Amino acid sequence: MSKFRTIAVVSYPAEAGVIKSKLESENVTVILKDEFTVATDPFATNAIGGVKLQVYKEDYIKAMGLIEQYAPELLPANVATIKCPSCGLHKLQDQQDIHTATTFSQRLRAIRLSLFPSTSTYYRCGNCSHEFEKEAKDIV
Ligand SMILES: [Zn+2]
Repeated sequence: MSKFRTIAVVSYPAEAGVIKSKLESENVTVILKDEFTVATDPFATNAIGGVKLQVYKEDYIKAMGLIEQYAPELLPANVATIKCPSCGLHKLQDQQDIHTATTFSQRLRAIRLSLFPSTSTYYRCGNCSHEFEKEAKDIV
């Protein structure tokens, strides 16, 4: 039985690093699984399912609380709660994720975001195709 539990899965090591340092500033030890594989070959992130952020079992509850506070966009339920500012529907896709990038420009943006991580996340409406950016802190 593993001593660790996965608290979040992200597409890129840079993203994982930001969350890791945040959690470690709160005394939660974070292990990044598959970090180097993805860093070596960013396109491998699809194949291996991204970088896993893991914590010791005893830190799990605390870590999840911190994720909720600092990176709520990582909790899958949250994307569903965000409304499209244009049509008001809840049909958004997270554009930071190369998995959902369907066009060349979206793919480029996902790669750019992996190189220059920002605190905001891009979303695209599945209904009206409106694209917008949202700061992580604005997401409730
Ligand atoms: Zn819309």
